[in-house]
Amino acid sequence: MSDEAYDLADLHERAEDARVVVVGAGIGGLVAAREIAKLGIGVTLVDAADAPGGAIRSARVAGLMLDLGAESFATRGDHVERLLDDLGLADEVVTPGTGAGGAWVAGVPGVGAAPLPVGGILGIPANPFADDVRRVLGWRGVWRAYLDRIRPVLTIGHARSLGELVGSRMGAKVRDRLVAPVTTGVYSATADDIDPDIAAPGLNAAVTRAGSLSGGVAALVADRQVAPGGAVRGLRGGMGRLVTALVDDIVELGGEVRPGVRALAIERADATEPEDPEPIDDAEQSPRAWRVTLADEDALAADAVIVATEEAPARRLVAPIADGLAADPPAPGPAIAIVTLVVRSDALDAAPRGTGVLTVPGSHRAKALTHTTAKWQWVADEAGAGVHALRVSFGSADGPPATDGLSAADAATLALAEASALLGVDLDRTALIASRVERFAQSQPASTIGQAERTRSARAAIRSAPTIGAVGAWLAGTGLAQVVPDAIAEADRIRRAVLFPESD
Ligand SMILES: Cc1cc2nc3c(=O)[nH]c(=O)nc-3n(C[C@H](O)[C@H](O)[C@H](O)COP(=O)(O)OP(=O)(O)OC[C@H]3O[C@@H](n4cnc5c(N)ncnc54)[C@H](O)[C@@H]3O)c2cc1C
Repeated sequence: MSDEAYDLADLHERAEDARVVVVGAGIGGLVAAREIAKLGIGVTLVDAADAPGGAIRSARVAGLMLDLGAESFATRGDHVERLLDDLGLADEVVTPGTGAGGAWVAGVPGVGAAPLPVGGILGIPANPFADDVRRVLGWRGVWRAYLDRIRPVLTIGHARSLGELVGSRMGAKVRDRLVAPVTTGVYSATADDIDPDIAAPGLNAAVTRAGSLSGGVAALVADRQVAPGGAVRGLRGGMGRLVTALVDDIVELGGEVRPGVRALAIERADATEPEDPEPIDDAEQSPRAWRVTLADEDALAADAVIVATEEAPARRLVAPIADGLAADPPAPGPAIAIVTLVVRSDALDAAPRGTGVLTVPGSHRAKALTHTTAKWQWVADEAGAGVHALRVSFGSADGPPATDGLSAADAATLALAEASALLGVDLDRTALIASRVERFAQSQPASTIGQAERTRSARAAIRSAPTIGAVGAWLAGTGLAQVVPDAIAEADRIRRAVLFPESD
């Protein structure tokens, strides 16, 4: 269509008159609000918490700026790096330290802790005879894993469950000692619940081609279809800088960011009685399609609403106005607690467990530990020798965090004991300089069996109301690299629905 088909002055006016409310200022809501504001559309972003950022939380602990939630992003797709570049933060992107070695696995029966073998996918080794694999599996485990190479592929390479695929091909030891620590530590899910087609696209087909699982893994890694270990980056000064930059940009573009404001409901404006005297805190020129009711305040009127909360509040807000969306999550996601510890310990200067530890499920109360000062040089530089930051993670699909119900001091004591065991270094209360406990509701991982279908039907239901959008990890999948591009795409859909309502 030619430019003349549009009245550009009219378009500009439409954008200026339009108003979009975004509920939830996690990374999804922030990115969506910025995309809306870029066109000059009025945007108000509200968040129930005291500060924006959602699962991205940076704060000072014992004077050190630390990430208490998300601490990195996957380079996959380049989406987050492009966003950081756009916000002038490209020079602040940092790579995790490799000097300390990679991650370890702890709680291996009869072995204790050992370096997590390198070069596999989701913990599945490409070569069962590699020294680092043998150290974790023992000879019997290695020979059992090798049977995979000589047994024919019976199921023409289409397993639905990662745990079943690995267990049947390479044995229980590969599943329990190598794969389960990764699925639990990284996805908060059991290996049995993970769909290999989503977690490792191409793996099932590679298994059929190669005739074995380890051969399929080797072929995929060689083809570079899957980066071994998955490349991640961080931000000098903490991921919170991304949140601050997004908020600043939204405000500069004329938008409004309001933390401490909880949305209670979204209603069609025409559902309100015409004589309803309740004021709307927005000088109205024309009637707007939606009313967003807020706790402790009246309401915001909007032409479109983007819901960017976690799954449970998102469903509660959208279910009454979207055909066929259930008000409750079909499968609630796991709760996670992260205990951040700043400790004094000369023994940790040597990074005895590399950048951190994943645990064999059931072997410890913590599921993972990150040795932050070994992983991120900028934190080590701030801390100085002998002072270390650790993140101890609790909670997974198997159960709530072991810190639930504990006071902050008791949670710190538990985390300190777990850190001592996982790092093989004695850390008692006298080593502790400061601690902080944060709790998060995670969404169901996108790679959980059946999740792709649940997400598809939720999106379809939400789109039954063309000026209602939804973004965030519960729809896009966990992680910044998933949420950012999805939020950009959804905001674009909503911008168009607002500016060109006639095209619906
Ligand atoms: C501990 C932890 C560590 C992680 N580490 C990484 C990592 O290193 N790298 C990575 O890529 N990903 C990581 N992730 C995942 C990643 O952080 C998330 O996938 C992503 O940040 C989710 O963003 P979101 O916008 O979907 O939602 P959230 O960040 O969950 O934000 C939702 C927001 O909605 C608000 N809200 C809820 N209800 C209402 C309401 N009624 N009214 C107003 N506001 C409301 C909440 O207060 C919250 O701020 C981690 C997640 C956790 C929990």
